[in-house]
Amino acid sequence: MQKTSRILLEVYLVGSSEISNPGDCMVYLVDCRSELALIDAGVSADISKICRNIKRAGLDPEDISTLFITHSHIDHVGGAASFRKKYGCKNVAHELDSDALEKADPELTGAVWYNQELMPCKVDVKLSGSEGDVLVGNKTFRWFHTPGHTPGSISILLNTSDGNILFAQDVHGPFMPQFRSNISDWAKSMKKLIDLDFDVLAEGHFGIYRPKDRAVEYIKSYLTHYGYQ
Ligand SMILES: [Zn+2]
Ligand SMILES: [Zn+2]
Repeated sequence: MQKTSRILLEVYLVGSSEISNPGDCMVYLVDCRSELALIDAGVSADISKICRNIKRAGLDPEDISTLFITHSHIDHVGGAASFRKKYGCKNVAHELDSDALEKADPELTGAVWYNQELMPCKVDVKLSGSEGDVLVGNKTFRWFHTPGHTPGSISILLNTSDGNILFAQDVHGPFMPQFRSNISDWAKSMKKLIDLDFDVLAEGHFGIYRPKDRAVEYIKSYLTHYGYQ
């Protein structure tokens, strides 16, 4: 049984199918000293369990200033509008996945699969291009456009005091025409991730892989599965 856990000194797991809501992705929280950054927001507009977990970690959800959206699927963005409304955080997503969330497109966000209505949510910072930096508190979040699962999927690399963590979220797919998935783009994205300098992989549904060798093995197992190596 998972619990709210400290993955690195400044990184916590605060949401998942086991510790918040059954439909939730893995939700990660980064302590940026004066501010908090959240990676994804879970499936539900009811964010109370994720907030309870943040408090259990000894942190205050009121300090969330930034929500990074790795892609616009409902299991990652269902709570986005609630976090933005309640805590005034700014939402950051790639421009190629922003429309789906701002319009709450039921197909592109996968909401139809969950038989759930998604609240549309503004994206305050729309990332464009292939990579860049977003500063939050004392941290620099380096983002990479890693299309494939969706057109605007991003991965985030963060250097912390006790290791480099890569938030890659849905490494495993799936790949569906209704998501505008592109599996050859995905294979290129995964190869790009393997080349990055990280110690810990934070995946969207399957948790934490470390050290890097084990994480690379995990990513490569999917490349092999889909015939890309
Ligand atoms: Zn997804
Ligand atoms: Zn997912």
